[in-house]
Amino acid sequence: MQQTRRRIRRPLALAVAGALALATLATASATLPGPAPASAGPAPAAPGDAQLGPCRIATALGVQMSEGLPTAPGYVRSTGRVRALNLMIDFPDAEGEGTAMSRFREFFPKTSDWFRVSSYGRLTYQPETPLSEWLRMPMPFASYGIERGSPYEPGYRKLVEDIVKAADPEVDFSAYDLVNVLVTPNAGPSALDTVLSVTFSGNEDAPYADGVPLSNTSFVYSRQDDGSGSYDETGYRVLPHENGHVFGLPDLYTVDGGGTVGHWDIMSEDWGANNDLLGWHKWKLGWLDNDQVRCASTTGASEYVLTPLAVAGGPKLAFVPLSERSGYAVEVRTREGNDEAVCEPGVLVYRVESDVDTGHGPISVSDSDRESGGCTRRPNVHAELSDAPFRPGESFTDRANGIRISVVKEEGDGSFRVRVTRS
Ligand SMILES: [Zn+2]
Repeated sequence: MQQTRRRIRRPLALAVAGALALATLATASATLPGPAPASAGPAPAAPGDAQLGPCRIATALGVQMSEGLPTAPGYVRSTGRVRALNLMIDFPDAEGEGTAMSRFREFFPKTSDWFRVSSYGRLTYQPETPLSEWLRMPMPFASYGIERGSPYEPGYRKLVEDIVKAADPEVDFSAYDLVNVLVTPNAGPSALDTVLSVTFSGNEDAPYADGVPLSNTSFVYSRQDDGSGSYDETGYRVLPHENGHVFGLPDLYTVDGGGTVGHWDIMSEDWGANNDLLGWHKWKLGWLDNDQVRCASTTGASEYVLTPLAVAGGPKLAFVPLSERSGYAVEVRTREGNDEAVCEPGVLVYRVESDVDTGHGPISVSDSDRESGGCTRRPNVHAELSDAPFRPGESFTDRANGIRISVVKEEGDGSFRVRVTRS
């Protein structure tokens, strides 16, 4: 199998406002295609969901991480109980600060809680720490040659081999679905300067331990601390972002930063206030049932009532297919659940393209109010798209494709009625 080892280099977009450095950074990712025993994503179409067929835009070939359905094999199953092995590592030239378990507690139980809330309880994320002390690497940090954008070869392969060598006597790697390597924060640069955190997912060519490859491994460095005093609440969010890659989700930020999706998905912005995943991702991960998705594939007008994405149950997502590789998704976003920074609740409309790769803008949110400056000034929340949702009386129009998506009204229970017209 051809192993592409292209890497996504994330732009360094530092903005300084007054004394506060605002880091509008997400994390890097890399993925390697390959076969695997389990795959993520919703159940295959049952006879009853034939009408969803046109809305299951397909995974495109030649794309590292596609938004299509189903998620390619090789990633970690995204429903049920998932066991995460956490290894806290340090180096001779960067000895662990504080205890290894205090490093672990920067991310847990918050990360497990985040997944429970976002998945409506469908993903039980079980973090384990069979080694409660720092795992000392044999070489100094610098000698692994790890920088932002480093490929797997040779530095990461060497690091993973050394991790396996040090941990294997006490760790049964075959018992876990994914591995988190929580690096002592004093190894490497500050996350304000360069975010090194990275995930190698679907990598069947990774070193083996206990008969299994370490094919889905997230590395977290430094601390995503923007100096606003919110690190204890929000700094863990790099880990659900990185783990999003082991479940097959692509990066939604681009070389221009978070301007295509804003704060509407943790794969776009993982600094700052908490945020959720887009409904499309929840369907892709199997957290929405097929009967919670409406497919607007026929000409004429159709109306749908959608309930807030953050609340369990009810119809969540309408999809308007444009081709076998693209379409518009429609959902209701409100300030609840993991969505902490929503300042204008309403109907979010975004385009999904399964043949656009990770980091190149596979999803773009339509802004109902362009160049408004947005409705938030929270640090590390993309402001312009914060008021992107459409409100009653407003419409999104794609004239070239003869599509109009209108918000008819807000119902008393917080749900919204939308009308899709296709000519
Ligand atoms: Zn990423």
